[in-house]
Amino acid sequence: MTDHLAQPAPAGDAGSEDIFGHLHPSAGEGRADGPGNFDAHHPPDKELLDDCVHCGFCLPTCPTYALWGEEMDSPRGRIYLMDLVREGSASFDDQLVRHFDTCLGCMACVTACPSGVQYDKLLESMRPQIERHHERGWADRTFRELVFALFPHPRRLRLAAIGGLAYQRSGLPGLLRRGRLLDRLPARLRALESLLPPIRARDLVADPPERVAAVGTPRRKVAVLTGCVQRVFFSGVNAATVRTLAAEGCEVLIPPDQGCCGALSMHTGREPEALTRARDTIATFERYDVDTIVVNVAGCGSTMKEYGTLLRDEPDWAERAAAFSAKVRDVTEVLAELEPRAPRNPIEGRVAYHDACHLGHAQGVRTAPRAMLATIPGLEVVDLPEAELCCGSAGVYNLLEPDAAADLGRRKVANVRSVQPDLVATANPGCLLQIRRHLGDEAPPLLHPVELVDASIRGVSPLPLLPPVPPAPVAAPQDVA
Ligand code: SF4
Ligand code: SF4
Repeated sequence: MTDHLAQPAPAGDAGSEDIFGHLHPSAGEGRADGPGNFDAHHPPDKELLDDCVHCGFCLPTCPTYALWGEEMDSPRGRIYLMDLVREGSASFDDQLVRHFDTCLGCMACVTACPSGVQYDKLLESMRPQIERHHERGWADRTFRELVFALFPHPRRLRLAAIGGLAYQRSGLPGLLRRGRLLDRLPARLRALESLLPPIRARDLVADPPERVAAVGTPRRKVAVLTGCVQRVFFSGVNAATVRTLAAEGCEVLIPPDQGCCGALSMHTGREPEALTRARDTIATFERYDVDTIVVNVAGCGSTMKEYGTLLRDEPDWAERAAAFSAKVRDVTEVLAELEPRAPRNPIEGRVAYHDACHLGHAQGVRTAPRAMLATIPGLEVVDLPEAELCCGSAGVYNLLEPDAAADLGRRKVANVRSVQPDLVATANPGCLLQIRRHLGDEAPPLLHPVELVDASIRGVSPLPLLPPVPPAPVAAPQDVA
């Protein structure tokens, strides 16, 4: 493969077409302080780029390569492009940036690569460079600003959700759909409208208490991140997380003043914003003396486990960030680690488990959620075909790249339908919204896996569609929240 990769344009060349026919490297503009056209602030590392041996094993698992079959929309192609920028043979023009905007950051390539290429670290370096050196068009810039003025701010999101509730109750959505008026909206706004989940008024006022005592003898002290989208649209997941941890002997602390962890900003290259949020999150949780910081959002957990790396340059924060990251665990990891103490009641049903990319690929957490679900008697857990392929949610990707996201969403739900589940479980609110949107009205119910464990412990049916849960052989623990 190396032989037929394009050679970079020689310095001084006005630019040439490579063998893939769609990149025109311009001669190095040469940023004074960094290699090639990168600046000196954490450019993609040459050694990491050189780890790629161009074998192509990652290609079939890359969603954008699966969609378009284009080399430059594959991990190998994107690594090659970073190399060209590093050599000064390509610049941050629209064409190059497009290949990185379309990357979902799903990290399926990291899982697939036999050479251990750290594409996650490469992308984490590349995206902030793009944001610093590429001028986006006004429409793109404005939409991104809108997204980031809303989603990482739970209070604003809650206000927007009240508006969404009024919209849903007004009957307007049906009217607009029947008149095909929604079709006239720009694709990104259509995506925003279609991803809005059914909003319940009680979710908008639900806030967990600051402390919930362990049931029985305490065996761990934990603090829980409540998330931004999770807090507003999936407060039931947070309540289930807190109840389950407490039922399993954890004293649970929930910092009331916590903000956004910075994951959405980090995944889109908005580094200064992400670092500010990381510092704030560390400072907030440091006030609580806990063994573990529990996360029930895959995207947040993967970023919080990286704080130590993200803040490595900052003398005041590097050590604190590393200590913080060392304590972060997904809720499924914690519950799989703890020998079950609370008796489980049966749930008869077939659950399709979808591995959220930021849990499976980015954090390598695949066994724990399955082990946790396996503690529920009667529940059959089935894997999906093409499980490694992203559902198209990927943080705010389904808002920024709605067409590619919709193609992936449709592919995912075809795989979900093929296993004929009674319900679907996945540990990320973005995946829940995306899969629900594409499953449509006939969707089997979608849940976070911890909601199933919670329902099993409490002896209630997780869903009206499932058969009634038979009485427990042993009394279930009391509700704790
Ligand atoms: S990233 Fe890994 S799997 Fe993909 S081409 Fe490079 S070495 Fe091969
Ligand atoms: S992160 Fe996902 S979309 Fe991006 S190159 Fe890797 S596999 Fe492809």
